[in-house]
Amino acid sequence: MSLAKIKHIVLVLSGKGGVGKSSVTTQLALSLSLAGHSVGILDIDLTGPSIPRMFAIEDAKVTQAPGGWLPTTVHEADPLNGIGSLRIMSLGFLLPGRGDAVVWRGPKKTAMVRQFLSDVFWDELDYLLIDTPPGTSDEHISLAETLLQKARPDQFAGAVVVTTPQAVATADVRKELNFCSKTGIRVLGVVENMSGYVCPNCSECTNIFSSGGGEVMANDFNVRFLGRIPIDPQFLVLIETGRRPQYPEGTVINGQDISTPAHAA
Ligand code: ADP
Repeated sequence: MSLAKIKHIVLVLSGKGGVGKSSVTTQLALSLSLAGHSVGILDIDLTGPSIPRMFAIEDAKVTQAPGGWLPTTVHEADPLNGIGSLRIMSLGFLLPGRGDAVVWRGPKKTAMVRQFLSDVFWDELDYLLIDTPPGTSDEHISLAETLLQKARPDQFAGAVVVTTPQAVATADVRKELNFCSKTGIRVLGVVENMSGYVCPNCSECTNIFSSGGGEVMANDFNVRFLGRIPIDPQFLVLIETGRRPQYPEGTVINGQDISTPAHAA
């Protein structure tokens, strides 16, 4: 079974589309791999698989091997520099064209979710992050059932829930948290994305979408609040163009100097 060699499986969930679920999955994967862990991303966001775009590997093709579909390698492990491997399997790789939509009925979607969980050959992984469609649809129920049946309890770590701060988003995420408690999925915590905009010129933070909604919700549900991610226009540039963003000298966010070194610009 393809999940056997995976140490920790983490779902990334959100109540709404566009709140940054795939962006958080991407950043989590990069952080874990830069910390030396081997990481896989399984992108089953049937509403719009955007992980291949975020890694600029939209043209990658998956190959079929005796052990299952082989995921695409973003980079191999580099133990000398303390970097772990990063591999991706996305529904997007199976669609004929970039802009193609998945127009499937429920049973076909749930069958695809099951197949993705059982037929991808992951080899050894420290973390498998699963980027899910927004909401609490048939695919989620199928995903929860399959994971709770097939993964060992010590393997299925739980879910990271992503929201934006405003009430219209947190209202939907509350449904997501209720879904987790009904299906028995442990919530690892809530991330509040697009939480304020830090002006690169004056370093002042403007709470465009209000602030704190994610933390209030986490407290209400007695789950951990994992933190806030500000709106970062450079992040958007990176995603849209697939190029490394350039930060002017002296750019400091959350107390950290993130300016681009002269040799890398
Ligand atoms: P979802 O997976 O929830 O549909 P995405 O991760 O695809 O959302 O994000 C939607 C859009 O918002 C993308 O264009 C992404 O680059 C952008 N985005 C997400 N988070 C941020 C952020 N913190 N700062 C700037 N842009 C962001």
